[in-house]
Amino acid sequence: MKIGILGGGQLGMMLADAARDLSIETRVLDPKPDAVAARVTQLLTADWADPRARDALAECDVVTYEFENVPTAAVESLQADVPVHPSPDALAFSGDRIVEKNLFRELGIETAPFAQVDSKEDLERAVSEIGLPAVLKTRRFGYDGKGQAVLRDASDVETAWRQLGGQALILEGFVPFDREVSVLAARGRDGEMRYWPATENVHVDGILHISRAPAAAVSAELLASADAGLEALMARLDYVGVLVVEFFQVGDRLIANEMACRVHNSGHWTIEGAKTSQFENHMRAIAGLPLGDTDVPGFAAMINLVSEIPALDALEGQPGIYLHVYGKAPAPGRKLGHITVVAETRPALEERIRQVLAVVGDRAAGSSTPASPPAS
Ligand code: AMP
Repeated sequence: MKIGILGGGQLGMMLADAARDLSIETRVLDPKPDAVAARVTQLLTADWADPRARDALAECDVVTYEFENVPTAAVESLQADVPVHPSPDALAFSGDRIVEKNLFRELGIETAPFAQVDSKEDLERAVSEIGLPAVLKTRRFGYDGKGQAVLRDASDVETAWRQLGGQALILEGFVPFDREVSVLAARGRDGEMRYWPATENVHVDGILHISRAPAAAVSAELLASADAGLEALMARLDYVGVLVVEFFQVGDRLIANEMACRVHNSGHWTIEGAKTSQFENHMRAIAGLPLGDTDVPGFAAMINLVSEIPALDALEGQPGIYLHVYGKAPAPGRKLGHITVVAETRPALEERIRQVLAVVGDRAAGSSTPASPPAS
């Protein structure tokens, strides 16, 4: 079995790692010669549209992708010769925030109020309909909080339009969330589904800082409604692989923000924290293998290493602490690695998180976003 992966960043690298443990060969395509997946597998350095690279991937048994901005034409051309999972249809839905939110609504998944914005007049109309505060975002190609502006009062309308106008935009009502929760699931070729427990996420400056799983104090009803949302999405998209939906929790409601049709940063803790990782189950799903057990024996957390890698010697080999340094060149706001922490109890997990933050620094310190979960 040989699997082609479009994209050779850290997600591609961890997918290739998981494949190796399943004795699956991988081939990764990335236009960047320094793509880190080269550390663990064969990297084809070529443009997405390069015909020779395309043919090399078309020789695989199945092709997948690690990021969502792969040109649709490249994926569609491959699909003529080799199965591509998740299907390019799913990619089209998740690549446009309006199309994605319409799909959520169609399936009865709650979203924030939103409106399409293509002109300054649209923006003014949307602001009067939705009210302030609100968030103006690009419909496409936004990630890690890039391509968005929060509008708090009327004077922000002009500034936000100057910053983002001229592209296809969406205005969303600002959700005063208690916390952010993501739900990951895997669906096999035969429709079998496995869910990991909900993960609680803290973002700083739009970039994921800490994930904790299982998220504390999620009622069975809330979890069931989230899982039902994912099941409906996956059935509708005839989905094969791992899907994540990011939700805002407000009281006992979950409001969907966005989905990612791929493995996701908020699921990195599954490598050590769950019986089967998101990477392994993604590979199992697309390879047509039975899915692995998604149970979580204890508690897990993941802390991202962003912008620079500090000295980690004090954490090496410490019980319950696992270091992942991707080997990427440092740059402001770039995800360079992550640390997984596992423990048998929640207090022990929090103690280990403190141990890690004391060494790597707490990005949330000095920010308005708390690193600790709310008391609930
Ligand atoms: P996104 O790129 O949509 O994932 O947004 C990045 C982060 O911005 C989210 O994780 C939230 O912390 C915040 N955010 C995005 N949209 C909203 C919203 N409608 N209301 C409140 N916060 C938001």
